[in-house]
Amino acid sequence: MRAATLTDDVGSGDGLDVALDARRRIAQTEAAQYDALLGYLADTAGTPLARAGGVNEWTRYGGSGTPSVSEYAACEVGPALGLSASGGRDLIADALDLTYRLPQLFACLHEGSVDAWRIRKVARKTRRFTIAQAGDADRRLAAANVDGTPLIARVGMGRVQQILDQIRIVEDPDDAENQRTENSARRSVSIWPDDGLARISGSLSLDDGERLDQRLDQIVESLRFLGDNRPHGILRSVALGMLDEPDSLDDLYHQVAAARRGSGGGTDADADDSYADQSADEPGDGGSPERARRARRSGSRHTVLYVHFDRCWGTWSLEDVGAITRSEALEILGHSHITVKPVIDLETSISATGYVAPPRLKEQLALMNAGTCTFPHCNRPARIGDYDHIINHREGGTTDTRNGHRLCRYHHRAKTFTAWTVQSPAPGIWLWQSPAGRTYLVTGGTTTKLPGQISRTAQAKRKHDAA
Ligand SMILES: [Zn+2]
Repeated sequence: MRAATLTDDVGSGDGLDVALDARRRIAQTEAAQYDALLGYLADTAGTPLARAGGVNEWTRYGGSGTPSVSEYAACEVGPALGLSASGGRDLIADALDLTYRLPQLFACLHEGSVDAWRIRKVARKTRRFTIAQAGDADRRLAAANVDGTPLIARVGMGRVQQILDQIRIVEDPDDAENQRTENSARRSVSIWPDDGLARISGSLSLDDGERLDQRLDQIVESLRFLGDNRPHGILRSVALGMLDEPDSLDDLYHQVAAARRGSGGGTDADADDSYADQSADEPGDGGSPERARRARRSGSRHTVLYVHFDRCWGTWSLEDVGAITRSEALEILGHSHITVKPVIDLETSISATGYVAPPRLKEQLALMNAGTCTFPHCNRPARIGDYDHIINHREGGTTDTRNGHRLCRYHHRAKTFTAWTVQSPAPGIWLWQSPAGRTYLVTGGTTTKLPGQISRTAQAKRKHDAA
């Protein structure tokens, strides 16, 4: 149907041709991965993963028209492919959508004429489309030009989004309106640490977004006016951080106003500079506006820092951020109040007599696996996860450091309702076995797939037999 690659036509074999051919084969290999995944799901479709007991485990990962899959399929698929639960779930959903809703685009992937990330984006963006709308998107984006290249490989993703928007609006204007309402109800903003920076992702209303955009540019303009010549992107990032500190914005605007007036002394800007050098208990200005502003500024930030010392490397790190340098620590502490929390020694055994874990034990366990859920490849924060008895309390399991760990809600459900089992042969080490018999060692926030199976404890045998 299509001339799959340029190399077929040119055949000169220089480095770029070889690279292009490799890229085509990567796409084809991705398609083979999705086929194999769907084969696995089809083979296991008749086998419920959850134990009997009224747990409704069937759910639809993909869009309408795709078959339902066990809620816990992502638990088996994710770790087996080295993915988190959400990564496994997204992969299953995309593979189902490509097969059942976007077959022409999937054919392009099989031919190697489009990169996998592009059609996975389309799968995600059309997940809520009706079958007819998805079919239209499939047809339009897979349309080939004379050399056989599909449209999706010839335009940017912005243009792809326009086409998808057109399909949604033209085919069902009400649906487009409903979609906007639903999108509005799902607005959220997330901030998370990533490689020493904070990443932000989210959505705002159009009005809020426009106002925030203008506000950031306004602050950038002020910073530039005062001589800050860092790149525009960095200044917008700095500006966003300043929104959390009304007093520093106040200072900024005073400095700009003073500079615009062109006065060299006795300005607000100079006042700010001078009071920064004053001692804290300078007499005689107890009721001055400067003093009030200064007090507000010093109280504008309150930060709880979880600082850890790595005995092996002799370095300090901030929880959820990673290793920090001395200057970074100074920058953080320079404008923060500090809360010092008592150190919990991870090697100390903490125990309780009842079923409920005390806060100190929960805090200790939240730190045990580098701060994450102990399920293989899960990177959800343990601090907001559930406390779990490895051996059930009613079966004699104690409430202590050895028998406790922290699991995110999804994996707590998986451990409770499916044949997943966990053992902890030593503090800080967890051996997990999946219902299909795959074995993983989790420790220090890392997951290692182990060959073979581990011998089951009595509890694990009971769970597996009951499943
Ligand atoms: Zn988890």
